[in-house]
Amino acid sequence: MLKVDLLSLTKEELIKFMEDLGEKKFRAIQIFQWLHKGINSFDEMTNLSKNLRQKLEEMAYISQVRIENKLVSKLDGTTKYLFLLEDGHIIEGVVMSYKHGNTACISSQVGCAMGCSFCASTIKGLERNLKAGELIAQILMMEKDFGARISNIVLMGSGEPLHNYKEVTNFLRIVNDEDGLNIGNRHITLSTCGLVPEIKDLADLRIPINLAISLHAPNDEIRKRLMPIAKRYTIDELIESCHYYLQKNNRRITFEYALIRGVNDGEEEAYQLSKLLKGLLCHVNLIPVNPVDEREYRKSQQHQVKIFESVLKKYGIEVTVRREMGADINAACGQLRNKHLESRK
Ligand code: SF4
Repeated sequence: MLKVDLLSLTKEELIKFMEDLGEKKFRAIQIFQWLHKGINSFDEMTNLSKNLRQKLEEMAYISQVRIENKLVSKLDGTTKYLFLLEDGHIIEGVVMSYKHGNTACISSQVGCAMGCSFCASTIKGLERNLKAGELIAQILMMEKDFGARISNIVLMGSGEPLHNYKEVTNFLRIVNDEDGLNIGNRHITLSTCGLVPEIKDLADLRIPINLAISLHAPNDEIRKRLMPIAKRYTIDELIESCHYYLQKNNRRITFEYALIRGVNDGEEEAYQLSKLLKGLLCHVNLIPVNPVDEREYRKSQQHQVKIFESVLKKYGIEVTVRREMGADINAACGQLRNKHLESRK
């Protein structure tokens, strides 16, 4: 019999699972609460009978991640984790401390199928989807290791969250539950490279999280060079899906724009971007790109970043240049994992 991962279940699913075992709803809620306190075994659920704990042991398990390695920035305490999954796969996560609390950046897949040309996470392709419980387990492990509550989540680690739609949307429901980690939707950001049908499906769910779009180009031509997904959906279709998301959720959309020297950081591109985003309730996050060893891209020069920013401002687009966190342990997303996998070989 295949065991069920209880950490991957929403409260409603757990209630149903327990009722099928002939148990009452309140028991399911007790178990749900235990699971999200970061316990690792049913034996730690001290308010359950021994019989029930044994029954759970036979039928279910609790997803876990272990810390394989971690790097802590001496500059600002930013902590980068390599997590080991139960099947031996490795994923990355980061905790950043801000005045308003701790933000966890977590992974949604092992590797990624999307093939963005500036990203190290995709170099070995997609290995597998993570289960909702493995997303929760990353946060629980970070809280335990960090010794503090995680108050904000960004789904920006390895993987395309909307390519793992079912588990990720289940995760959104679980993490928001008041009997669980109780992290407000407004404190959660999902970043996508632009899967248009899934953006619309997510909009229809009306879970008012923040949507971030990895845009990185103001037109199809440049975007196709950087991101294979642009061959499937045009930039106009993508922007149209953003309008749809806004209409359903009334949440300002963030556009991530990695500035790559000589590729997408010219004044003309800044004008095109301003035109594209005109009239959309949005915010642009300019990210001087992290160099990836396996790729040739280089960071934009400081003055070019300033020009780009000023053009957007001139056209009334809200814009910020992303502050570099953990500069001393800085590695492009996915690079730490790749290096680790190489050394493991
Ligand atoms: S940027 Fe995101 S979507 Fe693109 S390859 Fe990397 S992890 Fe995948």
